[in-house]
Amino acid sequence: MNEYPTEKLNIKNLSPAEISRILADLGEKRHRTTQVLQWLFQKGVTDFSEMTNLSVTLRNRLDRIFRISSLKVSGSVASKEDKSQKFLLSTEDGHHIESVLMEARGVYTVCVSSQIGCPLGCAFCSTGSGGFERSLRADEILNQILFHKKTLIPPRRRYNIVFMGMGDPLLNFENTGKALEIINNIDAFALGEKRITVSTAGFPDKIRSITGSPLKFSLAVSLNSTTSEIRKKLMPAAGGIDEVLDAAERFAVKRKTRTTLEYVLLSGINDSPEDARRLSSLTAGRPFKINLIPFNEWDGCEFRRPSERSIERFIKILLPKAPAVTVRRSQGNDINAACGQLRMSRKRKA
Ligand code: SF4
Repeated sequence: MNEYPTEKLNIKNLSPAEISRILADLGEKRHRTTQVLQWLFQKGVTDFSEMTNLSVTLRNRLDRIFRISSLKVSGSVASKEDKSQKFLLSTEDGHHIESVLMEARGVYTVCVSSQIGCPLGCAFCSTGSGGFERSLRADEILNQILFHKKTLIPPRRRYNIVFMGMGDPLLNFENTGKALEIINNIDAFALGEKRITVSTAGFPDKIRSITGSPLKFSLAVSLNSTTSEIRKKLMPAAGGIDEVLDAAERFAVKRKTRTTLEYVLLSGINDSPEDARRLSSLTAGRPFKINLIPFNEWDGCEFRRPSERSIERFIKILLPKAPAVTVRRSQGNDINAACGQLRMSRKRKA
């Protein structure tokens, strides 16, 4: 490649095959792609001069062709109750995204955003009430993981990635998919489907379109209701119950796994014994896992967290017939860890 582009290419936004092609054009052998990916995503370097197993000539050429993007920290809050920490990260064009690091029993979980804000406007969600700016690029998704890996997760420690921050990753699957390719890649993050969860509000056609994808990830669908009527009220933009469950089941069968159904328990809305019975019959004998999430109240929201008594009653009715049930006691209640709240408080201050 004799001619360099006038504008530098954002290297973390390219697939391994694209990087490889450019390196081949420069006359470099295939293992150079491995080395570059390892420097970018395993060691997290931010300058080509740090890639010390490449010749100085190659480092200079790469620096003329590519740029290495990163996110800046513009705010953070640490929980006093547990080990969760929420960060507000700024993009190159001055937007703010939230990214949370949680730790339980030595295992870290990085919660990443896939969009700036969210266009779906789910009634119980702080992000939804804050509007939508744009979808994130693949490098902006990857830089959230790199930030936590470089600064907070101890070297060689196990971590999981959940796409449960701001936005819906299936509405931005072009970039989420690109990021997943790097997350799966053995020379980059090297994480498989058990360590990655893509969580969606549930669009049957989009779930069907990713079912055959070669990318490795697990799927979680926010159900949050047992009737399409309540689902429509809580999540007006998402699909109806039967079609969503059908698409989630096909995903699980085709990929020989289970789809997680997330169910945010809202007092007086979806936590009745009838809801528990309906959820039990809707899911019995199907390849699902149910994750109950007692609502995490935020300033100005109209919903309430159910009492411990009604949470226990719900679980008791659900358990005998339903598939695996877990309860996620939301981490970081004291820092309002639910998505969108740090960004909203920054917006209100601005
Ligand atoms: S719950 Fe998820 S999909 Fe719904 S508005 Fe919030 S971020 Fe968007």
